[in-house]
Amino acid sequence: MRAGICHILLTIDVEDWFQVENFKQYISFSSWPSRELRVEKNTHRLLDLLDSIPHSPKATFFVLGWVADRLPDLVREIHGRGHEVASHGYYHKLCSQESRDALRRDLTDSKRLLEDIIGAPVYGYRAPSFSISGEILELIRDCGYSYDSSYNSFEGHSRYGHVDLTGNKRKGIAIAVPELVNPKSKPMYELPISNMNMGRHVLPWGGGGYFRLIPSALFNLGVKRILNKERAYIFYMHPWEIDPGQPGVKEASRVFKFRHYINLNKTESKLLSFAGAFRGCCFITCHKYLEQAVCAENAWF
Ligand SMILES: [Zn+2]
Repeated sequence: MRAGICHILLTIDVEDWFQVENFKQYISFSSWPSRELRVEKNTHRLLDLLDSIPHSPKATFFVLGWVADRLPDLVREIHGRGHEVASHGYYHKLCSQESRDALRRDLTDSKRLLEDIIGAPVYGYRAPSFSISGEILELIRDCGYSYDSSYNSFEGHSRYGHVDLTGNKRKGIAIAVPELVNPKSKPMYELPISNMNMGRHVLPWGGGGYFRLIPSALFNLGVKRILNKERAYIFYMHPWEIDPGQPGVKEASRVFKFRHYINLNKTESKLLSFAGAFRGCCFITCHKYLEQAVCAENAWF
C-alpha cells in the first residue's frame, strides 16, 4: 500500500424497511415474517450498481442474521462478488437495551451463522443504531470479532452510544481497543463512522439520512475535507435507502417519516456522484483496510 493514498470504506447495513429503529414502535417483531421482503432485490441492485462503477469499489456488508437466515444465497452472492460480509447482529435490537447474556448470544450466533453460510471468517460487527458503549465494545471483542464499526461521534442523535477512546493508539482511522486483562494480546480495532469536526461541533457526515439530505456537491466537499485530515473515510447506508417503492408506514411520526423517506429516489445517483468524485481513492473493505494498516504501519505513520 502506498503511503499518502486516501481510502474510502463503503459500508452497507443489510436490513429491510420494516426492521429499522424508527419504525420499531409501529411494526412488531412478530409481524416481520409477514412483511414484504425487499432487501434481496435492493441488495442485488446495490451490488450491480457497485459493479457498474469503472473502479468496481469493494464494500463491507454488515448483514442482519435474521435476513441471512432467510436469504443465505444473497450472503454468498455478496461474498462471491468480492465484498466483505460482517455482522449487524441477529435481531436488530439496540445493544444498550439487551442483557449481557442476550447480547453475547446475538453476537456469537450472528457471527457463526454468517461464517457457516460463506465458509470463511467474519471479522467485523456493527451495532444497530450505533448503540455502543465501552462495556459493549469489550463484549464484542470477547465474542471473537477483530473490529467493530459502531461508534458515531455525532451527539445530536439520542440512540447513538458513546465510547471514550481518547489516548488509544491509532492506525490510520482505526483505534485500538486493548485487552485490559492481557495488554500484550492482539487488540481489537474500532472503525468509527466518519463525521466532520467543526471546532467544538461534530456534523454528521457519514452517510444514511444525512447523505440523502445534504446536496451532493456539498456532501462531497465535506468528505474531501475529512480526507485531507484523516486520509480515510467511512460511509454507511442501507439497501432500503435506494427503494422509493417500499411500503409506507403511515402511523409513524413526522420526524421518523422525514428521516426514513427523505430523497430515497436520489440515493443511487448521489452514490454514483460520490464514487465518481473520489475515483482516485482506494475503495477498500474494513478488514482489508485494517490488514494493510497493520502491515504497513511504518509506511503510514
Ligand atoms: Zn441497522
